Amino acid sequence: MRRGFLIFFVVVLGLLPVLPVPEFWITQANYIGLYALVAIGLVLLTGVAGLTSFGQAAFVGMGAYTAAYLSTVHGMSPWFTVWIGLAITGGFALVLGWITLRMSSHYLPLATIAWGLSLYYLLGNIDALGKYDGLLGIPAIGFFGIELKSGRSFYYLLWVIVMLAAFGAMHLLDSRVGRALRAVKGGSTMAEAMGVDTFRIKVTAFVLAALLASVSGWLFAHFQRTVNPSPFGLKMGIEYLFMAVLGGVGHVWGAIAGAGIVKILEDQLQSLLPKLMGSDGSYEVIVFGIVLVLVLQYARDGVWAFVDARLPPVRRKVDWANAPALTERARPAAGELVLDVNAVRKEFGGLVAVNDVSFQVRAGEILGLIGPNGAGKSTTFNLVTGVLPATRGEVKFRGERIDGLASRRIAQRGVSRTFQHVKMIAGMTVLENVALGAHLRGGRGVAAAMLRLDRAEERSLLREAERQLTRIGMAEHMHELAGNLALGPQRLMEIARALCADPALLLLDEPAAGLRHKEKQALVDVLRQLRGEGLSILLVEHDMDLVMEVTDRIVVMEFGTKLIEGTPEEVQASPAVRAAYLGTEH
Ligand code: ADP
Ligand code: MG
Repeated sequence: MRRGFLIFFVVVLGLLPVLPVPEFWITQANYIGLYALVAIGLVLLTGVAGLTSFGQAAFVGMGAYTAAYLSTVHGMSPWFTVWIGLAITGGFALVLGWITLRMSSHYLPLATIAWGLSLYYLLGNIDALGKYDGLLGIPAIGFFGIELKSGRSFYYLLWVIVMLAAFGAMHLLDSRVGRALRAVKGGSTMAEAMGVDTFRIKVTAFVLAALLASVSGWLFAHFQRTVNPSPFGLKMGIEYLFMAVLGGVGHVWGAIAGAGIVKILEDQLQSLLPKLMGSDGSYEVIVFGIVLVLVLQYARDGVWAFVDARLPPVRRKVDWANAPALTERARPAAGELVLDVNAVRKEFGGLVAVNDVSFQVRAGEILGLIGPNGAGKSTTFNLVTGVLPATRGEVKFRGERIDGLASRRIAQRGVSRTFQHVKMIAGMTVLENVALGAHLRGGRGVAAAMLRLDRAEERSLLREAERQLTRIGMAEHMHELAGNLALGPQRLMEIARALCADPALLLLDEPAAGLRHKEKQALVDVLRQLRGEGLSILLVEHDMDLVMEVTDRIVVMEFGTKLIEGTPEEVQASPAVRAAYLGTEH
C-alpha cells in the first residue's frame, strides 16, 4: 500500500505540468519543491539528530547569491556555479558547525539566529551584491540546449532534484550512519558507548542540511531570475523550521507535506487576513506562530506521523540470511588480565561516589559488583567506560591505560556495556537498535548510504544483529519498535546491542531488573555461554540468586568503598556483607 501511494504520488507529480493546470499552481508547486529541499535537510538535522536551526534560510541565500553573482557578473554556467555554491555553503557550515556544535545544544538555535540575522544584513550592505535591491537579470538554467524558462520546464528539474534528495535522505536514515544520527538525539552517552563519534556526526548532519539549502538557493535564483536579501532572512528561517515541524520532523515525506501546507496556507492567509483585519500586514506570521505552538503542544510528531500511523507498518525484508559474517576480534587468552581497575576515585563535589576502588577481571570470568543503592556501582561503570572522568586512579584494559580516553575510543578497544536506565531509540525497530551496536564493525559513510552502495555491508551488520537477538532469545521481536517492548525485553535488547560490538569485556548494569523468571534463566544461560567463549563480564545486579549462580567472584561496595571481594560463598558467609547489604534484604 505504501508503494502504491508512492507510485501514485510520483505519477501525479510527473503529470502535473502536462495537465491543464493553471500556471499559478505550477508556480506554487515549484515553491513547494524549493522549500521542501530545505525542509528535508531540517528533517535530518532537527527531526532526526535533534539539532534546531533557525538559520537555514541563510544557507539558501548563500547558494542563491553565489549563483546570481557568478552567472550575472561573470557569465558562468549555472551547472558550474552550483558546485561553487555548495563548496562555499559547505565550508561555512563546517566552520559554523565546528564552533557551535561543541557547545551545549541550547546554543545552536541561538547561534543560528545570530547567523541568520547577520547574513541578511551583510547581503543588504554589499555593493557588489546590489545591497537591498539585490541582483537582477539572472539567466535561466539551460538543460541540453533547452532553457528552463517556463515554470513547467523548471518544474521537472526541480522535482527530480527534490525526489533525489528525498530518497537520498531516506536511504541515509536506513543505514549505519542513519542509525548513528538517530542515536545522537537522546544525548550522546549511548551513541558514544557504541563507538559513534557524535560530534562528527552532528557536524555531518549540519553540513548536509546546509548543502540541501544551498541547492535550493541555486534553483531559487534561476527560478525567480532575481535575488534580494528578504527571502533569506530570519523570518524565512523560522518558516523553514515550521514546515519541518508541521510536516513531521522525523519523516522525509513530512518535509514535502509541511512545505506544501505552509506554502498554500501562507498564500491563503496573505490574501484573507488583511481583508479581515482591514489593513495590510504580514498577519500570517502571527497565525503561523500560534499554529506552531499548537502543533508542538498537541501533535509533536507533525502531520506525517498521523498519516504514517494509518499506513501499514514497514516490515523490513530479510535479505541478509546469506550475508558474510563480520570479522571478529582476537579474543584474549583464557586467564589474561582484561580489566585492571586501580584505586579509582570519583568525587561529585563533596560526595565520594567511588572511593579508591580496585579490582581485576580476567578473560573468561564473570565478576559481580554488588552493593546497596547509591554504593557507586553505576559510577564505577561510567569510569571504566569513559562516560565520566575519574578524579584519580588508573584503569587498564588489556594492559593499556584507558582512563582519560573518550568513551568511543574505549568501545573501539572492545569494551561494551548496557545501561541501568535503558538507552535506546524508541522509534527504531529492535533489529536496528541492535545493529547500532555493530557501528564500529562497519565503515560505510554518508555518500555510500545515500547511493545505496552500502547494502552488502548493511546485510552483514543486520545479520549480526539478528544473530545476537537470536542468541538472547529475542529474534521474534526483531521487527517491533523498541519503544513498544516491555522493560525486560528492552534490557535484553541492550545486551544484544552490546554483544553486536564483539566486545572482549561486557559490562551489564542490572540486566535482570524487570525480567521474568524464564527470561532470567535464559539470561543466565547466555552469560555462561559467553564466559565459555572467553568473554569477560562485569555484572551489576540486585537479584542475589542470579549473582550467586552465575558469578565467579564478587566485589561488594558500600558508600563508594570496596567492602570485600571473594567467591560467592565467601561473600555470602561474610558477616560484614550481611550487616551492610544482605542483612537489609527482605
Ligand atoms: P549505584 O549504581 O551503586 O546505585 P551510583 O553509582 O549510581 O550508585 O551512585 C553513587 C553515588 O553517586 C550516589 O550517591 C549518587 O547520588 C551519586 N551520583 C551518581 N552520579 C552522580 C552525578 N552525575 N552527580 C552527582 N552525584 C552523582
Ligand atoms: Mg546503579
